[in-house]
Amino acid sequence: MTKTNFIYLKGKIPVRIINEPYCQKCMNPYSEDQHLCYTCANPPFEDDGWYFNEVKALGIYHNYEKIPINNLTEVVNILKFRKQKTFKKYAGDLIADGLFQLTKTYPKLIEDTNYITIVPKFNTTEVNQCDFILAPLIKKFKTAGFKIQDISNKVVRLMEIGEHKHKKFLERYDEIKGIHRVDITNLEKNKVLILDDIFTTGSTTWDLARAFKEKNAGEINIIVAGRHYPHENWPVFTEFNFDDLLLYFSYLDLHRDRKKIDKVVIKNLSIDKNRQAYSLIEGTKTDYQLIIDFENNILKHDCTDFLTDRKWSKRFCKHITKVFLQIKEDYGLDCSQNLLELIYHQLDKWVFEKV
Ligand SMILES: [Zn+2]
Ligand SMILES: [Zn+2]
Repeated sequence: MTKTNFIYLKGKIPVRIINEPYCQKCMNPYSEDQHLCYTCANPPFEDDGWYFNEVKALGIYHNYEKIPINNLTEVVNILKFRKQKTFKKYAGDLIADGLFQLTKTYPKLIEDTNYITIVPKFNTTEVNQCDFILAPLIKKFKTAGFKIQDISNKVVRLMEIGEHKHKKFLERYDEIKGIHRVDITNLEKNKVLILDDIFTTGSTTWDLARAFKEKNAGEINIIVAGRHYPHENWPVFTEFNFDDLLLYFSYLDLHRDRKKIDKVVIKNLSIDKNRQAYSLIEGTKTDYQLIIDFENNILKHDCTDFLTDRKWSKRFCKHITKVFLQIKEDYGLDCSQNLLELIYHQLDKWVFEKV
């Protein structure tokens, strides 16, 4: 087993860094003992060069079901899928903090780098979620004394291309070639840093880097929150402590909105011999119920947040999160952790439903 290292976002949220061996160019962990993965060793358009220098990611992004906790995926999903700006801002701040730490580990990413950009959208009126990472990250760079200029408004995406997930590798590159334009006459060999949330095949960033090179850019590096790899080969971790598990089940509310959880009043909590937990929780109009049957893998609750949102993703609302904190108080850490693991390890078998 390789040793696991973490980056802590804002000192609080642990993110597992990607362990070597991985491709030295794109952090693709598929490349056993090789220096470069197959794609990087055999770039799709050899004549035109392979335009970026290297990719550095905070950690792994995945969206498979039944795969263990990965806080980074949680944070990126908040950035991507939560509509309200407060959520996007929260996630963007966390990622920026992590990426800033990453540039301390890999100082070449930022040293003598003059320009930074996010990957543009075709529809410029659409929210670009990466803006929520870029703003706090630039602030950090400037505070640390780096002179880096945001040139996102000089970078244009000329057309939309549809979902390309199912296309073959080369077809995808063929299709994407030429979709970006950089509106700067001459970059005079200056270094450019491209910021993105997820790096999958790299086809988009590859073309953006191409557009930069056409305008005489120097070295181009890429920093991303998550390195995505559409394969089941990612290392699987199964050991988590109580805090990690509850952070996951709370959809990071435990970090983002702790006060809300602390305010919840538990009126009654009991766990019987058949491993049935029952709790009555104070509500504004009527009280809420929580019934967890650990023998039959059923969790029942009745607040609006649970029914409209959390139930589907098998996550906890503030009430359920508070109940587990209370279980820890009343029954001890071992008991609360064991019960959470019972849910987590067989999550696919669990049913979350209305009382
Ligand atoms: Zn590679
Ligand atoms: Zn609830």
